[in-house]
Amino acid sequence: MIYREVIEFETGGENDYIDITHRVEDIVKRSNIRNGLVNVFVVGSTAAITTMEYEPGLRKDLARALARIAPSDIEYEHHKRWGDDNGRSHVKASIVGPSLIIPVENGRLLLGTWQQIVFLELDTRPRRRRVVVTVMGEE
Ligand code: ZN
Repeated sequence: MIYREVIEFETGGENDYIDITHRVEDIVKRSNIRNGLVNVFVVGSTAAITTMEYEPGLRKDLARALARIAPSDIEYEHHKRWGDDNGRSHVKASIVGPSLIIPVENGRLLLGTWQQIVFLELDTRPRRRRVVVTVMGEE
């Protein structure tokens, strides 16, 4: 069977990284699916979903690494096209990706102890976000 819920929240803008592990775990519980997969997908092209150890040092390290790949002080064609200021946000979002699939076994996510499911706000301004969580499997 398939069970779906949408998580909605406000972000603080660029580099607001949010741990959504517990919200995904709660949805898996409500699904009553014991064995299968869960897909976590952010709607939009300036945010991303990944896993990481959610601690302040690594949050800074990841933000700095992404800023080296797509710095704020270079030219982006996207800005000329739309008058936007978030070319770097789109590039980072495409590289990290919008979704994850995590195995579910006996009703639990097979995540490591130091592996959280983390939403990355990459846009240059605060946004209202929707993350679609789809649980697939058998009860
Ligand atoms: Zn844009």
